Amino acid sequence: MNPKYRNVEYTTFSGWIDPPAQLAAPVQGTVECDVAVVGGGVGGMATALRLSERGIDVVLIEAEFCGYGASSRNGGQIASAPGGDLRMLKVLSPKKLPGMVRFADNAATFVEGLIKQHGIDCDYEPNGMVWAAVSPIQMLRVKTLAAILRSLGVDGRLGTAKQIGIPEAFVGGMRERRGGMLNPGKLSRGIRQAVLDSPVRLFEQSKVIDVQRRGGKVVMATAAGEVIANQAVLSTNSYSGEWDIIPAHLSTPAWIIEVETAPIDPERIAALGWTSRSGLVTQHQIMENYRLTADNTMVFGVRRLEAGGQTYPLLPRNPDPGMVRELAEGFYRRFPTLSDVPIARSWGGWISFSSSWTTVAGRIGDNVYYSASCNGHGLAQAPYLGALIADAIVDGTRSKDLESVWEIKASYLPSPAIRPLPLRAVWLFDRISDIFNGGWRRARRAANRIARRTQ
Ligand SMILES: Cc1cc2nc3c(=O)[nH]c(=O)nc-3n(C[C@H](O)[C@H](O)[C@H](O)COP(=O)(O)OP(=O)(O)OC[C@H]3O[C@@H](n4cnc5c(N)ncnc54)[C@H](O)[C@@H]3O)c2cc1C
Repeated sequence: MNPKYRNVEYTTFSGWIDPPAQLAAPVQGTVECDVAVVGGGVGGMATALRLSERGIDVVLIEAEFCGYGASSRNGGQIASAPGGDLRMLKVLSPKKLPGMVRFADNAATFVEGLIKQHGIDCDYEPNGMVWAAVSPIQMLRVKTLAAILRSLGVDGRLGTAKQIGIPEAFVGGMRERRGGMLNPGKLSRGIRQAVLDSPVRLFEQSKVIDVQRRGGKVVMATAAGEVIANQAVLSTNSYSGEWDIIPAHLSTPAWIIEVETAPIDPERIAALGWTSRSGLVTQHQIMENYRLTADNTMVFGVRRLEAGGQTYPLLPRNPDPGMVRELAEGFYRRFPTLSDVPIARSWGGWISFSSSWTTVAGRIGDNVYYSASCNGHGLAQAPYLGALIADAIVDGTRSKDLESVWEIKASYLPSPAIRPLPLRAVWLFDRISDIFNGGWRRARRAANRIARRTQ
């Protein structure tokens, strides 16, 4: 076995953090409250906190422990633009797009406020995520997307790799004006602690097996009891398809992984020319993301999505070694000067897509709210959306930002792209474009220059 892969730790949870040492007690018997929030990701926790701050008697119910899902597993990039291709959104959802752009921009600011409000130590670096181009063709795409954003009043900083301080293996890109990167495990742990310190009644180890509207109330059944609430917020993201009450195809899950290297000598990182330290997302159809961490490692991911189908429950998984190796080989070719750095660990998670590629929130009847499908941008958007839903419950009206993602449907369109065959075809397209777009040659030349400088 290649020694670089010999000591890879494959984990079913996250590489960012360990699970909490002590969990909150499960629901036992009947618990009554004004509002129940189901799902303790960053979305559900922010919803519960906001409701509690506004004087509501709130119960938060989590199947495992708060932060168990995508919230602790993601790439840690606080994006300030919508997920999904803006060109496609402009064609498919022209009316929604301006609101979505404003919503995404405000979401990044909201999370920064949440971190400050609760004094959360999560290694946050407000250095704006970069849409990075590996080739001139990708740079053209960046410029087009940046123009769409600009036309909607949101400026990013366009420039060459040197101008925006990203590794010289890239042609250039656009730095988003807000957001940055953090350790999502520490963020989730910090928000969980804020929940524990608040009047929110938290129940962990309590999977909700059914949700029903009965006699003006919402009844959520767990293995050992039930929660009866006047209103409920279902904040289970990718896992949302488990109950009959959820509109069909609200969320289509896909499995993606992240990989972390062993620590890298800081001088070798400095030689890359990554002066901004901004997290990078490439402009492939299925993006690659790269970022540095506070421990001088690199975390990178996606490049391949695996369809989850609509088969629930979504089970925990270990990353497939073949998928890890493929991602790592991509990393070594993108950063040839680091081609001897071993891979330390890998983990994965379920991410949620909507057929419209827009974030969705809505209501069932007059007392069950749901939100889902931030399309890979939920680290900022899910908590913001949760807080907006909480405000709507208390105020009885929806803010402009909530209105921009609000949609009530009994059934959503399925997502034809999130299926094995289309995903494989898109992956192949990206690999072919890698061969012909000159990105590898550029990375090799950059590596040679670095080698000459550092000799
Ligand atoms: C590998 C990966 C990388 C990503 N990278 C980024 C990134 O860099 N930037 C970004 O913005 N977004 C990223 N995302 C997406 C982002 O992590 C999510 O959009 C966001 O965390 C969603 O938060 P959430 O609270 O809605 O859902 P989750 O964090 O998934 O929380 C849902 C919670 O509901 C609980 N639950 C499920 N079913 C039940 C039930 N029946 N009863 C009770 N509880 C239940 C789960 O245990 C879980 O804790 C990434 C996602 C993944 C998987």
